[in-house]
Amino acid sequence: MTAETLPQHGQSWEALEARMREMAKGDVKWRDGRTGLYIFNAGEDVERVQKTAYAMFSAENGLGPAAFPSIAQMEREVVSLGLALLKAPEGGAGAMTSGGTDSIVMAVKAARDHARAKRGLDKGLNIVVPFTAHPAFDKAGMVMDIEVRRIPVKDLLADVAAMEAAIDDRTLLIVGSAPCFPFGLIDPIEELSALAQRRKVWLHVDACVGGYIAPFVRMNGVDLAPFDFSVPGVWSISGDLHKYGYASKGASTVFFRSRELLDFMTFDAGPWPLGRMVTPTLAGTRPGGAIAAAWAVTRFLGVEGYRQKQREVTEARAKIEAGVTKLGFRVLGEPQLGIVSFTHDSVDPLALYAKMHHRGWFTAALLEPKALHLMLSPKHNEVAHEYLADLEASLNEAAGVDAEKMTPRYAG
Ligand SMILES: *Cc1c(COP(=O)(O)O)cnc(C)c1O
Repeated sequence: MTAETLPQHGQSWEALEARMREMAKGDVKWRDGRTGLYIFNAGEDVERVQKTAYAMFSAENGLGPAAFPSIAQMEREVVSLGLALLKAPEGGAGAMTSGGTDSIVMAVKAARDHARAKRGLDKGLNIVVPFTAHPAFDKAGMVMDIEVRRIPVKDLLADVAAMEAAIDDRTLLIVGSAPCFPFGLIDPIEELSALAQRRKVWLHVDACVGGYIAPFVRMNGVDLAPFDFSVPGVWSISGDLHKYGYASKGASTVFFRSRELLDFMTFDAGPWPLGRMVTPTLAGTRPGGAIAAAWAVTRFLGVEGYRQKQREVTEARAKIEAGVTKLGFRVLGEPQLGIVSFTHDSVDPLALYAKMHHRGWFTAALLEPKALHLMLSPKHNEVAHEYLADLEASLNEAAGVDAEKMTPRYAG
């Protein structure tokens, strides 16, 4: 590797833009809809709104609400629409963060400080999460020296009885996902709520990938089990705007049932030479652009826009489910939102994954159990048939390869 240094003389924007376009040639072709990971493609009009709003406020800093009342107002309005979507009671409160991991770490921090203040707990704390919960909880545990107890799932969902058995008097929080990333399935939040209330622990619902799609899917007539603040034991929820909110990257939300619970998240320390420093979340400087883009996109789409986009997502999922089932795959569980995983009983899903990757599809695969994984966008509704055609071709190829591999054994 050759060391890159800062050029002695500044370069023209034209030259830099050309180089960046050159570098991007190696990137996955996400605008064609061939990416089932990392990207949420709601179309060119949404992308234009994101970019323009981001650029307008790319220098502004959310750290300074007094200097930038514009950013403060946009954040307040975004948070309040999230609270309404997730059925927060009167007095519910929230904040914007840089992403799902950030929101989760902050919710765990609030739960820890709550346990310290209200339950007199200090050291040796633990949280109890299903095996399918996002690794962000482990990151929180790592940072705050909290043990994370990952409990095997039952029929792919949080095993409430097993989680109860793992709770002890130093458990500060339990988790359910709505939905979990691996299978796109919503954990039994009402049962987890009953457990949390019985054992007097905090229940966090990780709706990072569901918070901004599930409410609209429900409005579209799908019968979703309650997962939001309408469930009484739910004390906090994480929801990512930069996923199915179709906002620019760097925008998530974390919500609390009450202002009092949110106050356990707030950082308030000092003194240092400037006196006290108070921030709502871990971040100091916060990107005005990400806040502005989230504000603009949510208003650009509105309820009807989101209902339409999310309908395209669930239609794409239904097409994929029907197509892969016809090809002999087994869909894992009964997904209702934008993620679907499926496995095959006679062909190795990971061999298929490689073949699909070769055909230009950048997606995820699961290892436990082995399966193909798709996180769908509205754009996929246009290309679902291409995916299925390539999957059929890959399946035929993989079956052929497997048969060839087996030939020597029979021949020997
Ligand atoms: C994406 C995701 C996260 C983490 O969000 P980031 O924005 O990638 O940090 C957490 N939980 C679930 C269920 C997710 O899908």
